[in-house]
Amino acid sequence: MTVHAALQEQMPGLAARLLAAGEVHRGVAREPVSMPLIRQWCDAIGDKNPVYTDAAAAAGSVHGGLVAPPAMIQVWTMPALARTAEKAAEAVDELFAVLRAAGYTGVVATNCEQSYDRYLRPGERLRATTRMGDVTGPKRTALGDGYFVTWHTTWYSGNERAGRMMFRVLQFRPPERSSEPAAAPRVAAAGSDDRYPLRPAMNQDTRFFWAGAKAGELRIQRCRGCGKLRHPPGPMCPHCHGGDHDYVVASGRGEVFTFVVHHHPPVPGRTAPFVVAVVALPEGVRITGNVLGVPPDQVRVGMPVEVVFERADDDLVLPQWAPALAAPAQPAQATRAHEMPAHEMPAHEMPAHRMPDLGTPVSDGPGRGTQAIGSPDLLPELVIPLSATTVVTTALATRDFTALHHDQAAARAQGSADIFLNILTTMGLTQRFVTDWAGPRALVQAIDVRLGAPAYAGDTLTLTGRVAARGADGSVTVQVRGLCRGGDHVTGTVRLELAGEPG
Ligand code: ZN
Repeated sequence: MTVHAALQEQMPGLAARLLAAGEVHRGVAREPVSMPLIRQWCDAIGDKNPVYTDAAAAAGSVHGGLVAPPAMIQVWTMPALARTAEKAAEAVDELFAVLRAAGYTGVVATNCEQSYDRYLRPGERLRATTRMGDVTGPKRTALGDGYFVTWHTTWYSGNERAGRMMFRVLQFRPPERSSEPAAAPRVAAAGSDDRYPLRPAMNQDTRFFWAGAKAGELRIQRCRGCGKLRHPPGPMCPHCHGGDHDYVVASGRGEVFTFVVHHHPPVPGRTAPFVVAVVALPEGVRITGNVLGVPPDQVRVGMPVEVVFERADDDLVLPQWAPALAAPAQPAQATRAHEMPAHEMPAHEMPAHRMPDLGTPVSDGPGRGTQAIGSPDLLPELVIPLSATTVVTTALATRDFTALHHDQAAARAQGSADIFLNILTTMGLTQRFVTDWAGPRALVQAIDVRLGAPAYAGDTLTLTGRVAARGADGSVTVQVRGLCRGGDHVTGTVRLELAGEPG
């Protein structure tokens, strides 16, 4: 019997036994929730939220004092470096030991879902319990054949539950090592210069369009002779050959007429894959743009979209598209714009797309924030260059001493191009991205992420997001996507409440 077959025979029994063991206590955290670790985590993640580190600001906040970042919850009960050898005593690790012995030596985290009962304060000491979840496999994956292993952790402070987590990893057999290590990705050019690299040509025929984008208006050229709208703008009307023109402001809504997903070649200023769409406007013209805030595989022909204005740099704002929410922001005006043929509507009666105040995004720390304007539901993009130092310092700040996150040789031995971000950091960056936007009033309730392409040292992580739902109780669900060169590094949702939000 081969090792592989023996494993397949052994695995269900082992998984069943671990499942039957139920909730297993993993002991009390070695350290209480503490300010030095919180500060180190905030520095590494680039989180400037004052409720974590500024005692005076925290005292005046909804928390009434300093609290720990919710996404740190797993950090408090991570095994210390000196205790890594003892891990075999833990329930799930018995399963991993068996898998490793059978050649499944590679491991990557694939899913993490955390929910928080409340924020933790410095001085609290957590304890954790784990419960075995599913084991599925062997399955063929891009990394190699492997088993998906799920477990559940619950944290308690005293006898009070503080938070819960579902965690899934893929334990896989790395492919035979080739003599050539996989090429490390080049540092992406984007972000090295503050000026957006692809600039549209502007001339006297198109200047009104780009000025409109800067002002948060999607402007469509109109012939003053026959009243017909046209796009792209040009000097002469194709219908009546008149040369006199002005413009109307479009409703800002449309639907995807057709689209392509761009993978290659690399385009400066954009991270592949991205969607280039032709959007049909109810005003009767079509316009091209990227569809943002949604994974490319979810874009469909006929999908309702709305314009968002992406600030490319200080001089350039690009009209782009994002999936439309169910209810238009201004139903009365939007309906009228749809019903009245655009060429019959005087320009001054065309509703301008609203430009709500998003506040000032926090943009320092690692990463450069660019403010998206024009929609209250699109978060400012966050671009994070991932140096080797970023990967190592964030792994250590999350108390993850796994060699894959600091030792290039170990990472390459399992087929990775380089060291890569650990999932605790991805959780932290996802939280930071959303709370940078939501501000210190945000009470994060849950973060669910699914990991895709590894975020390697030398890569750039670009986080985009949009509000997926707003509850009547003030709760907000934000969809988050983090792209790197290999594609989606992370997709997920963050659920939060805005304290003090009128409900
Ligand atoms: Zn005309």
